Amino acid sequence: MTAGPSRSGAADPADVWRGRVQDHLDAAGRPALGGMADWEVFPFERDGLAPRPLGERVVPEPSRARSADACGTCKALARDDLVLHTGTRLAVIRPGGTSLMFVANVVAREHERLEDLDEAADEELGRLVARTYRALRALPGVGNVHVNKWENGGGHLSVTLLARPLGVLELRGSNLPVWADMLPNIPQDEYDERAETVRATLS
Ligand SMILES: [Zn+2]
Repeated sequence: MTAGPSRSGAADPADVWRGRVQDHLDAAGRPALGGMADWEVFPFERDGLAPRPLGERVVPEPSRARSADACGTCKALARDDLVLHTGTRLAVIRPGGTSLMFVANVVAREHERLEDLDEAADEELGRLVARTYRALRALPGVGNVHVNKWENGGGHLSVTLLARPLGVLELRGSNLPVWADMLPNIPQDEYDERAETVRATLS
């Protein structure tokens, strides 16, 4: 459904945004490739790349929320090998595998969202993100660590920290997760050993 003017008569700002963008799409609804395709850290060569067409707006958005028993973060919190630190309201966990030097997630201990936190939990979040950043940054062979919050509808707060291998310049910047998806996982024993170092640093 397309959202029209709101009850107050003011235009829906996202509808205005979508209307403006329409003039910049081709007949199939595709925008032109942006300048990012020329970045030296962009993972793909420009030739042959095609953006996906933009469809109609969907309002209300379909819910992406998962219940706690279907939540991967809740499952990881139940596994001692994946939990790196347990705080008051938050914890630090890691995924089961990664292609990068290390990946950690600062998450809520319960199945709740960022907007559910109170001020004390906000402060804990800031402290834990900074401490986890430093712990990953201090690992041998790490060139940089990027901090991201992507989950929106899943229902479980998760801030993702990605550690890039030192000197692999193509992986710099915001395309790091795209590269990570294409590269093979590091050996599990190497990842587990690094997890012990991070766990000790966070304790
Ligand atoms: Zn959960």
